Formats: sequence, C-alpha cells, structure tokens
Amino acid sequence: MVKVVINECIDYNIENVTNKINSGIELLGGWDSFIKPGMKVLLKVNLIGPKPPESAAVTHCEFVRALTRILKQKGCIVWIGDSAGGAIAGIAPTPQSLDVSGLKKVAGEENAEIKNFDKEGTVDTGENCSFLSRLYLAKPLFDADFIINLPKLKTHSGCIYTGAVKNVFGCIQGLRKAQYHKAAPNPKDFGNILVDIHEATKIGLHIMDGITAMEGEGPTAGSVYPAKKILMSTDPLALDTTAIQMLGLDIKDIPILQAAIGRNLGESDKNNIELCGDYKTPPLLKNYKIPKRFTSKKKSNYKAIVKVIDFLKTKPKINLKKCQKCNTCVDSCPMHAINKETKKIDYTKCIECMCCHELCSFEAVELKRVNPLAGIMTKLYRGNYK
Ligand code: SF4
Ligand code: SF4
Repeated sequence: MVKVVINECIDYNIENVTNKINSGIELLGGWDSFIKPGMKVLLKVNLIGPKPPESAAVTHCEFVRALTRILKQKGCIVWIGDSAGGAIAGIAPTPQSLDVSGLKKVAGEENAEIKNFDKEGTVDTGENCSFLSRLYLAKPLFDADFIINLPKLKTHSGCIYTGAVKNVFGCIQGLRKAQYHKAAPNPKDFGNILVDIHEATKIGLHIMDGITAMEGEGPTAGSVYPAKKILMSTDPLALDTTAIQMLGLDIKDIPILQAAIGRNLGESDKNNIELCGDYKTPPLLKNYKIPKRFTSKKKSNYKAIVKVIDFLKTKPKINLKKCQKCNTCVDSCPMHAINKETKKIDYTKCIECMCCHELCSFEAVELKRVNPLAGIMTKLYRGNYK
C-alpha cells in the first residue's frame, strides 16, 4: 500500500502549516527517513508566472517559508527553484515570477538560496527518453541531495488538472519548454515527457499546497478556492489520484496522466492507496469548478498549437555593439553553440535554454522573434502580468 496524507489546514499561518506538514511527514516515516543534516534540499515550487501568492497560481510563499524553516532546523541547506512558464509565448519570466510570488523575499528572510533554473546550467540526461531524442534538465536537480516537489492544487484549462506529476515541467529551462510542447502537443505524448523527467530526477517527496486551490480556467486564469488541504506522499501519481478524487473526478479523466499510469510511475489504483492524516477517504471539494474543456465536445486542435508555438518562437542573438567579449555566455553554453571569436550562435546546436541570455551582465544577448509580427503578441502577453 502507498500512503497519501491529507491534512486540513485552514490558512497560511506559519505555525499551522508547520504543524500540519510535520504531522504528515511523521506518518510517512518521519523527516529523518528522508533527510540528514548538511544535505542540500531543493524545493521545486510551482512558479507558473509572475503571479502573487494570493492568486493561487503559484506555490504560496508562506508554505515555502514553513518548509524552509523545518529543513533549516534539521540542519539542511535549502534551495528554492524553478523555471517559470510562459515559454510558449517565447519568454520565460523567471526573475519577475520569483519577485512577484514573494519567493525571493522569503528566501532572503529565511536564509535559503534561490535557484533560477534558467541560470544554473543544464544537464543532458541522455538518450533514455520515451519520446524525445534527448532530455535536458536544470542542473540544480542533479546537484541537490534531496528534492521535494511542491505542486499547487489547480485546474488546467488544457489538461483539466495539474498537480504533482505535471509540476516537473518547470525542470526544463527557459524556451526549451516550448520545443517540448511542440514535439508533444497531444496530452498522452506530453505525459510521457513528464514521466521521463520524474524518472531522471528521482524526487523524494511530494507536498501539495492545496490550502488555497485554483478552480475554473486554471492554471493562471481561474479563481481562488479555499480547499484548506495539504497532501503529502512519496508517490506523485498516488497523490494526484487522491487530489483528483477530491475534485469529483477520476484519474482516467486526465489525459496527461495516462502515460504515468501506463509506465507505472506510481500507484493509481485507489484500492492500493492508504489515506492517512485527517481524512480516511478523499474529502469532496463541493462546487469546485472544473474547466469548460472537460464537458466540451470540441476536440483539441494540436496542429494549431504547433502553429502558435512556431509563430511565437524566439531565438537568442548576440548584439555585437553591446557585447563586452567577457565570454561568460561562451563558457556557460551547455551545447558549445557560441563561437568564441565571432559570438555567432550555431542554431543547429542551440537548445534554447536561455542560459546565455540570463547570464550576460551587459544585456547583449537579445531574444529575437523568428516571426517579427509576434512581437506585438509578446507585449500583450507581458501586459497581462502588470
Ligand atoms: S556574456 Fe554578454 S558580454 Fe559577455 S561575451 Fe557573451 S554576449 Fe558578450
Ligand atoms: S546559445 Fe547556448 S546558452 Fe544560449 S540558448 Fe542556445 S544552448 Fe542555451
């Protein structure tokens, strides 16, 4: 039997959150069975975009504060990291998202280290992927001694639901996310990429922030639902199976999770999941609004998704007038795609991870639209975050 803890937590009061997380972890074997003093523990948050904590779009910063304090008290070094969404629109606004979400402030106050995945280097996880020829992921995932996944309980207008399994998509850096979306526009293939990421990263714990959830047209445009729950498990699929039941749905209703079931990422049979904590059966979230797509008969137009990604595509380009020839970009490019002498980028090698763009101190690496008309759409998109 796989354990999933569901604890009631009425608000983000630090003591409440701390007590509820600690009592849940006790039921999963206790903190000492997961971490030891001196370990570098990465908290992989949900940083979908520049959204404030009260929007319920991102993992709440006070939730992250509680975990940071717990881990610091255990003698761990705490990292808080992600690469923001938005890549389909050709940008990955990770720095703004860290600011607006309150996570940067919390990290500063609690003496944790922010890991902007777009800046920290890339690891080639090899060819053992089900769907892609190669899978490149953010380096902190492999430098950390232990990873805790901190998904947010949310609806998703495209995928219906997003939770522990899907939260790993931010392990892909920058604009590379758009390329993976393009390679796998249909949910089942996309789900295979998610399973590949879980298998490559070996996350040890999943703790879902469901104190405020998002209902309706999530993951950013829905409304706040006070679900008042924290879910915990070592098994992301068992956790999602349980959370989905709380929404009144079945895991079979969620296409992106079918690959996780098929490839035995975890437990999806309710009979093999032992619920513990404050609930012995999944509490139904009454009147929780499911995305319209769930009941819509309209089929997704995957070709259109690919066209949008192509239309909005950007690529890095070095502005030689601004370039100070410091070679930071050359040295940090994981694909050795930048010519040291000419600073020309070999786009046949570039994986659009954005490291060069993020690391240049002189703003000399610019993101250029492949299609100039798309620039107008970027401005509109960015305007949504103001
Ligand atoms: S990091 Fe910036 S300034 Fe330095 S070489 Fe690259 S483009 Fe030029
Ligand atoms: S040139 Fe290198 S560092 Fe820059 S986006 Fe491409 S792969 Fe990443």
